[in-house]
Amino acid sequence: MPCYIEKTKSGGTMFLCGDLGPHCAACAASSDYLCDYPVGDGKTCDLPLCASHAHEVAPNLHYCPAHLGLLKEFKDSGGVRQVLENVIPYKREPKPWR
Ligand SMILES: [Zn+2]
Ligand SMILES: [Zn+2]
Repeated sequence: MPCYIEKTKSGGTMFLCGDLGPHCAACAASSDYLCDYPVGDGKTCDLPLCASHAHEVAPNLHYCPAHLGLLKEFKDSGGVRQVLENVIPYKREPKPWR
């Protein structure tokens, strides 16, 4: 039976054993959330996350710590338009020099 380490509200930890699904990807707690970051092909990152590692970026939309960082960089650097512009040259085959 898998065991989990959950953080309590008072700042302590408690152990919890049982069939609670996958562990959080960032700690040993049970995962209540999945990362909703789109990774293309209609899929999402799906990294299992606990309540303290799932960052709610919109109602019912949670990102893992790594993708939250990406989102932040992305917002800081000018948002959606710039990323769309970056996607197109990335997918294009490089032209030969001659
Ligand atoms: Zn966690
Ligand atoms: Zn993620």
